[in-house]
Amino acid sequence: MKKYEAVIGLEIHAQMRTKTKMFCGCSTTFGKEPNSQTCPVCIGMPGVLPVINRKAVEFTVRAGLALGCKISSYSRFARKNYFYPDLPKGYQVSQYELPICEGGAVVLNMEDEQRKIELTRIHMEEDAGKNIHEGMKDFSCVDLNRAGVPLMEIVTEPQIRSPKEASAFMKKLRSVLRYLDVCDGNMEEGSLRCDANVSLRPVGSTALGVKAEIKNINSFKFVEKAIEYEIWRQEEVLKEGGRVKQETRLYNTTTGTTESMRSKEEAHDYRYFPEPDLVPIVISNALRNEIKATIVELPDEKVTRYVNDFGLPLYDAELLSQEKDTALWFEEAVNKGGNPKAISNWMMGELMRLLNETTTRIEDCKVTPEHLTGLIKLVDSGAISVKIGKTVFEEMFNSGEQAEKIVKSKGLLQISNEGELDSVIDGILSQYSAEVERFKAGEVKLTGFFVGEVMKQTKGKANPKLVNEILKKKLG
Ligand SMILES: [Zn+2]
Repeated sequence: MKKYEAVIGLEIHAQMRTKTKMFCGCSTTFGKEPNSQTCPVCIGMPGVLPVINRKAVEFTVRAGLALGCKISSYSRFARKNYFYPDLPKGYQVSQYELPICEGGAVVLNMEDEQRKIELTRIHMEEDAGKNIHEGMKDFSCVDLNRAGVPLMEIVTEPQIRSPKEASAFMKKLRSVLRYLDVCDGNMEEGSLRCDANVSLRPVGSTALGVKAEIKNINSFKFVEKAIEYEIWRQEEVLKEGGRVKQETRLYNTTTGTTESMRSKEEAHDYRYFPEPDLVPIVISNALRNEIKATIVELPDEKVTRYVNDFGLPLYDAELLSQEKDTALWFEEAVNKGGNPKAISNWMMGELMRLLNETTTRIEDCKVTPEHLTGLIKLVDSGAISVKIGKTVFEEMFNSGEQAEKIVKSKGLLQISNEGELDSVIDGILSQYSAEVERFKAGEVKLTGFFVGEVMKQTKGKANPKLVNEILKKKLG
């Protein structure tokens, strides 16, 4: 039996999808020339006055409402004081004792159970700049393009119990934020990253152990790996009778370990105080309702609907609803009159395989929902076999042609004409008389061989059901 259990809390930083920064009009476009997107406000020159980005406030409220948070009618910004070269002002504007959203939860469908992870709060803050050490000799540089970019910080209660749950949480949150169009979820560009607080406690205990914080994890895989390692590390410390230190750690992706960055004792006491240059944020009921009306149907609701209305298995429903564009594609195909399960099978099989192989996004895919339902009709009516259907699908994917046209121009129609198949089968049976003898002597599994030969000679176009029937008749 396990002696310790892990207690995990996450703080997720999601970059908001606004065109301009949190407190100035500078662009938030990623990857531009260093310091080309800065102004006196975001580089912290004295005497400047910041102005709150209305879109950022709306986005945070939208996310808060979608995640079931209580929206504060009155909230305000605070200065979080610390010194670091990527923060020329000497403080980060964030929210402290009056955040804009409190409470809320994310529900995870884990393999064996449903888990509800509660949120503590969501608040707004500005991002810091970036120190550049790579390729520099005897000095470092600072790029402040990211300074002042609006972030949403989403903080969970310490209710996550395993590395798998942590990555499932990140995936679900990313999916919801992308549905809401408030964050692009691009983890390579750092638009979504998280800090994980990890502590261990003896099984059965309710007190919290000493936690270590792993900073800035930027992939689902690394979230799992970093927490896995950290749990193992703390377990080793505790088993040897040692004490876990409260500290900030970094995950080293090369060694797969976490490394101490700074201990809390030497860490800064942030000295928060209200930001005097910014007015408090007041969210009226009218504004709240206006923002609420912009919330689209979310993945959880889609899953329920796909299971109840379309009879899809939970697994299919979850996979198809993860990305909004995929879900809408699926729904359009259903609207065109396709069988939901058949559509789901083709999408999760051939479509996703080809999209992955060619790194194509579904919205750029040449196959339309209508093309797919056309193909399904051909398969269902027996005009083509499933096997030929897959070839046709690939052709549709490459050329953007409709299934029917491909089938006609390539002569792929299934042979369901009994007379035609009769003669093909007669030919094969006389060609392989030795096998026929063996079959008659009891080697029944040779049926597969005969079917295979028929398929070979008809280039896969023979109707397999009919072939089996005819063979049965002829071989007695
Ligand atoms: Zn600026």
